[in-house]
Amino acid sequence: MPTWRIDVGGIVQGVGFRPFVYRLATQYGLNGWVRNGAGIVEILLAGSDAAVADFQDGLLTKAPPAAKPVLLSRRVAAAIPQGFSILPSTGGGTVMSGLPPDLGPCADCLRELANPADRRYRYPFISCTQCGPRYSLIGSLPYDRATTSMAGFAMCPACAAEYADPGNRRFHAEPIACPDCGPTCWFVSPAGEDLHHDAALVGCVAALRSGKIIAVKGVGGYHLLCDATSEQAVAALRVRKRRPDKPLAVLYPDNPALLENCVTLNPIAHAMLRGTARPIILASRHGGFLAASVAPGLRDIGVMLADSPLHHLLVEAFGGPLVATSANRSGEPMLIDPVEAERELSRIADGFLHHNRPIERAVDDSVLREIGGKVRCIRVARGLSPLEFHLPRPLARPVLAVGGHMKSTIALGFGDKVVISPHLGDLDHPGTLAQFSRMAADLQALYGVKAESLLMDAHAGYGSTRWAKSQNLPAQRIWHHHAHASAVAGEFGVNETMLVFTWDGVGLGPDGALWGGEALLGTPGHWQVVARLKRIKLQGSDAAAREPWRSGAALCWQTACPSPAGLVPPGGLAESAWANGLNCHMTSAVGRLFDGAAALLGLCRIASYEGQGPTLLEACAGDVVSAAGMALTSQDNVLEANWAELVPILLDSRKSQMNRAAQFHGVLAQTALEISRVIRTTHGVNRIGLAGGVFQNRLLTEALLRMLQADGFTVCFGENIPCNDAGLSFGQIIEFLGDGDEHS
Ligand SMILES: [Zn+2]
Ligand SMILES: [Zn+2]
Repeated sequence: MPTWRIDVGGIVQGVGFRPFVYRLATQYGLNGWVRNGAGIVEILLAGSDAAVADFQDGLLTKAPPAAKPVLLSRRVAAAIPQGFSILPSTGGGTVMSGLPPDLGPCADCLRELANPADRRYRYPFISCTQCGPRYSLIGSLPYDRATTSMAGFAMCPACAAEYADPGNRRFHAEPIACPDCGPTCWFVSPAGEDLHHDAALVGCVAALRSGKIIAVKGVGGYHLLCDATSEQAVAALRVRKRRPDKPLAVLYPDNPALLENCVTLNPIAHAMLRGTARPIILASRHGGFLAASVAPGLRDIGVMLADSPLHHLLVEAFGGPLVATSANRSGEPMLIDPVEAERELSRIADGFLHHNRPIERAVDDSVLREIGGKVRCIRVARGLSPLEFHLPRPLARPVLAVGGHMKSTIALGFGDKVVISPHLGDLDHPGTLAQFSRMAADLQALYGVKAESLLMDAHAGYGSTRWAKSQNLPAQRIWHHHAHASAVAGEFGVNETMLVFTWDGVGLGPDGALWGGEALLGTPGHWQVVARLKRIKLQGSDAAAREPWRSGAALCWQTACPSPAGLVPPGGLAESAWANGLNCHMTSAVGRLFDGAAALLGLCRIASYEGQGPTLLEACAGDVVSAAGMALTSQDNVLEANWAELVPILLDSRKSQMNRAAQFHGVLAQTALEISRVIRTTHGVNRIGLAGGVFQNRLLTEALLRMLQADGFTVCFGENIPCNDAGLSFGQIIEFLGDGDEHS
């Protein structure tokens, strides 16, 4: 009987995998050991062939729910072990695999939390091998208590006994804690008193009930909480946070009836909401329970369930929905430290619920939206980060891709693997840029990889591009929309020629123009433009993105239609600047067409948050009306879709806003379908990809998916990689690989 050495990769650390291996091995009477290596789990086994085969089968089929094991290798070893044990971890070297994400509270822990006889009754930091924080508290790998932010909490005898008992569900649970030995919370009340332990929770709930705004330290940073049914509380939050319109997420108690009364969720979205990641899900609302100012003008609201036992205790005691929004000031990084939180939020929060478990790295909430029957990532962060992907072939050298400027993420590529950082935010603010820089170092340190070159967007004004140029490493430009197209090809592992619609706001194209309405044909590293939206002449460079009226006016002026009253500021300056080409640019961006339509319908003249015009236009439409597509003409082998006939439709005030918005969506979907048909005829391509932030629009994307599929096309639309600029870093690596990375 030989002794076997088995290496297991995938997500196997921090998810109760070693205890599971221990139980499985002892169940089959095998001798040997298990230990954490650098990112893998190493197993030594001795026993009968049948027992080893059963063990190996069980290893993959019976693993704990949060684990995602992959068998890496199996070879004969020389040792003759006695008994079975868990050995200390070995570290160092390149980490080949899985960093576990933060996991929401599991059913077993919630049961203990509610049981007065349990020693962790109402203990806000209860966790086990199947739940609790991971990514946010790991300092370095391998994952052991000593390398986490729990290192400062010495286990009490009772916790130490559970930790050491193979039969206990907290066997080797690194964040194990109890009221005697673990982290504690305290509440600084609006009156300035300090309340501790359970009194802190009781005091916090009482303050929320009286309409106060409370900053609460969570898993990945501080949130601001207030009563979501109180117009007064929500309005006060908006004023103090200087956030007039941007929708706010809502935290619900674990009460299905209450949730069903407020929002419509399909079974997949519902499962995701309750799953270990505990993301925000954007869902359409139908009840009137929430204050109107939670999401002004929108049909969808972001809902979530408690992502930690602390939040669970709060929201269950409160008994109703609570607004839960990141406590950072707009555009700034999340706050993670009590002193910093009290300083930065002194004018925003009435009270503070702190705890003393340090946060190793800030992680924002993840955001998902159900589109076309699947739940799609809009923002990948807490519970889902870091995302890992396998490449079709290994990279010659480690590379760091720094993504775009808005919705920034970083991707580290090494070997045949890509790791994508959580959402970092927009890089306008120095604090966010500093966080971006730390994340670049952190990713490389965690995975034990040093990037030898950088990939960056071609836009010189992006914070990420400026950062890349300031590093002492070779940096290669990747075109914005090539990265978008490659992201979708990479997620689906497509290497045949496909047609990808890259519809977004604005990105720099290889011809120096601002793209955003192109359809690209090819494969990663080899894209060519085959169709585009007719370019719009826009006046006021940076202001155009924040002021949809400029897009609306441009649509009118370019087609010689009179602009609606009140759209353009009086005085005629803007129009003469436009006519004379002062501070003007040409763009094919579909995002600007959406902005223009929202402005012409009177929905949004000036945006207070990114994407406000398109979001309001979608909410206004309600449904898609089938319509004729835009006229297509061919110039230099590029199809051009002319939006001119849309303008009189948008200006036709005899029709309702809803009808016009619905028709707008119909025209865009039909146009994409017709472009696809032409390219199928001319190039024999049947696979379509959808990339770019425009496709976060559920109405447009669902209509287009239906139409393309009914016409026999195979459609790829991202699920794990966001279609917006958060997917650029991953796409940059796929584009680089497709272009032949070893030659660069
Ligand atoms: Zn648990
Ligand atoms: Zn304890």
